[in-house]
Amino acid sequence: MHLDRQPSTWDAWIGTAADVDEHALRARLVRSAPDAWKGYRERALEESLSLLLAGEALAARGVLLALGAEQARGAPGTGPAGLETVLGAALDATDGDDDAYAWLVDHEERHALQDPRLTRLLAVVADSRDETEVADRAWSEVMAQAVRLDPARARRAVVALVSRRERDGLIGPMVADLLSCVALVRSTQVEDWDQVAVDAAHDLRARGDVAGARLLLRAFRAAAPPTAPVDRARRALTPAAVSVRAVANAVVFTVLAAGALALAVRWGNPLPLFALAVLAVAGARVVHVPGMTEQEGNVWQRLGAVELDPRRGIVETGAGLAWFAVLGVAGALSGLTATSAATSQLREAGRHGAWLDGGGGLALWFVGMLAGAVAAVLMGRWLHTAVRRHETARRWAAADREGVSPGAACRCWQVSALVDERALGYAGEHLLPLDRHRGVGDPLDRGDDLWQCPESDTLWLLTGPGGSGRTVALRGTAVG
Ligand SMILES: [Zn+2]
Repeated sequence: MHLDRQPSTWDAWIGTAADVDEHALRARLVRSAPDAWKGYRERALEESLSLLLAGEALAARGVLLALGAEQARGAPGTGPAGLETVLGAALDATDGDDDAYAWLVDHEERHALQDPRLTRLLAVVADSRDETEVADRAWSEVMAQAVRLDPARARRAVVALVSRRERDGLIGPMVADLLSCVALVRSTQVEDWDQVAVDAAHDLRARGDVAGARLLLRAFRAAAPPTAPVDRARRALTPAAVSVRAVANAVVFTVLAAGALALAVRWGNPLPLFALAVLAVAGARVVHVPGMTEQEGNVWQRLGAVELDPRRGIVETGAGLAWFAVLGVAGALSGLTATSAATSQLREAGRHGAWLDGGGGLALWFVGMLAGAVAAVLMGRWLHTAVRRHETARRWAAADREGVSPGAACRCWQVSALVDERALGYAGEHLLPLDRHRGVGDPLDRGDDLWQCPESDTLWLLTGPGGSGRTVALRGTAVG
């Protein structure tokens, strides 16, 4: 077996490198691929494209110039242009040529359906020209292509998608977009994915979109394992007014609840409590989250009521208003009982009798109920958050352990690329190192290693940290 005689393995590696957004690595693989892979011209164009996508415009230009590629562009709409024309336009646009940029934008609009790479290319070129609106549109569409981006690009695409949300649009799509941002960042498989989330929120804030940054971090809280950096960033973005308001709401509700309970006890019927429940449900619908539109506020609340379970997907967390209302009422009753016991003691001891009869007793009851309700709600909230976060962290840790180290079971039929810990874990537990000095072929690069599946003979390439800083394992084909 010799690598040079395995064009299909090279083809798989080169394709998968693009799938995980490792374009610098892809350029390197294209350069090293055997002649049997593709012709000279096609290879040069693919290498140039990969370099450009990796942000190395100068090197991409060099490859194209060495090829002597034809850069004449047709008038827009004259049919799909060849890759060399597109690359020439993209490079000229990067260098500040407005006509080339206009041609590229038009070309992408017409032909992105046939060649989705055009959108990725436009996104990079538009960013290099600070054309934020076009770049945001392109990055959002790249995300919709369900690709896995490297951490830096994932951060950029997330900012684009959140920035482009319709602030008064429907709740469902906004929630879905925010959760897809979480999925995209998690799909980078890097250990410090939470920093990607925090950086994206920082970028949104720098654009003046504080509401977007807060919604994004709330989505991470709902749909990703809890981490300290995300929590810190979320707290830092939450204006003090929000916390004050939340406490004020809780106190007002508790005062009303205590009053309703007192009336219910005095009248001997539960009508005031029913009225309060109706009021609470109606109130929850009209409460706005400061700094957000009404729909964003609804999205905010919706994200607070769901979480992503690593196995079951999005699930309701089940601790809504009703749960806290029950807690509040139970606390108020306990407070009432305790106060009653205390006043009885005072009466029996013959102290403060006149004051208690003159309204002091009623006031004491009220304060007791209030204190009981507030304490019960605060404790319930603290306990619920602590238990929920502990449970979520435990489930995610178990799922992550399984992802990093699935044991020696073969998943070569299922997985085409793995990153960082998962790549090293899979190689260590399942694959066998291949001695490249025994006729396998030249080393691809320093830091690259070849591994093989003992069951299916699939050849895997494990690269050293590439342009994105990630170690990547790419699946090739079965080689006997
Ligand atoms: Zn295998």
